[in-house]
Amino acid sequence: MRILVAEDDGISRTLLVRSLEKLGHTVTAAEDGEVAWQRFGEGDFEAIVSDWMMPGTDGLELCRRVRAATDRPYTYFMLLTALDATSHLVSGMEAGADDYLTKPLNRDALSARLIAAERIIGLHRQLTEQNIALAALNSELYNEGRMDALTRVGNRLRMNEDLAAVHDRVNRYGHRYCVALCDIDYFKRYNDSCGHQAGDEALRAVATSLAQQSRVSDAVYRYGGEEFLVVLPEQTVETAEIAMERMRHAIEALQIAHPGREPAGVVTISCGLAEHSQGLAQTYEELLRRADVALYEAKQGGRNQVVVAGATVP
Ligand code: GH3
Ligand code: MG
Ligand code: MG
Ligand code: MG
Repeated sequence: MRILVAEDDGISRTLLVRSLEKLGHTVTAAEDGEVAWQRFGEGDFEAIVSDWMMPGTDGLELCRRVRAATDRPYTYFMLLTALDATSHLVSGMEAGADDYLTKPLNRDALSARLIAAERIIGLHRQLTEQNIALAALNSELYNEGRMDALTRVGNRLRMNEDLAAVHDRVNRYGHRYCVALCDIDYFKRYNDSCGHQAGDEALRAVATSLAQQSRVSDAVYRYGGEEFLVVLPEQTVETAEIAMERMRHAIEALQIAHPGREPAGVVTISCGLAEHSQGLAQTYEELLRRADVALYEAKQGGRNQVVVAGATVP
């Protein structure tokens, strides 16, 4: 172990350092509590063996400071004391010490206590590693749970969380955002003629293309089946329409052959676009409904097109 020794008495310090080194530990020695506190800040010690009675910062105070430094890995703290009054020992343990040894030092006792110390430090380290691994797994699961497994864009859960946040921000601080509901045209026929697996591939390609075409501040979600939602923060309906036209065109340009789709003969999407701005009394669900009505119009109007929603909530 890497051990920090704090002992103001020169002879005791030398003896203690020598004993610890003989037991195979790496030792740094400090001649009082204040120097020990400095060394503790600079180094990476697994254990501290500290005399109780020292001028200035004593062992008890050093122990309290070490325990208060919660941003560091756990450091095992052993107090050395000639005082054998029980009340002193209790206050030492209460200050955060893990163990104590009485002076004069018995080398076997020291060796035995350090075996216990090493075991406890090992457990602490294991616990820390497990906690780090758990936190990483947690965040991985958090993200995975908000992602659509097939298309790797955000799922409905993420969409609802993000929309609620965007909607709230716009209502509170002003400005606007748009949503566009995109639906693959005649996708049932695509599945029927090309097979469900090819259908999945097409869904992936459409999602990837939408995500690539959107700006960093925009987000794409799988709304359901063959429908995707694009959220465009801070965009007016005019700029959002340009963006959605670009995306619609990009999907057509993928040239995914669609045997059941005439005249284009390739996979296309229809989009319904709606805007929300501060002061408009509508929930984001109502905004989505407006986008859905516009999408329906795009389908009725011949598909492969973007339709902007009227201003009123249906
Ligand atoms: P429209 O142009 O009016 O949207 O016609 P459509 O055929 O696309 O619409 P409809 O709602 O009748 O059919 C949607 C199809 O999308 C039906 C379903 O089989 C398919 N679909 C939904 N989810 C998936 C999926 O995860 N994988 C595959 N391969 N197909 C899917
Ligand atoms: Mg002393
Ligand atoms: Mg649909
Ligand atoms: Mg469809």
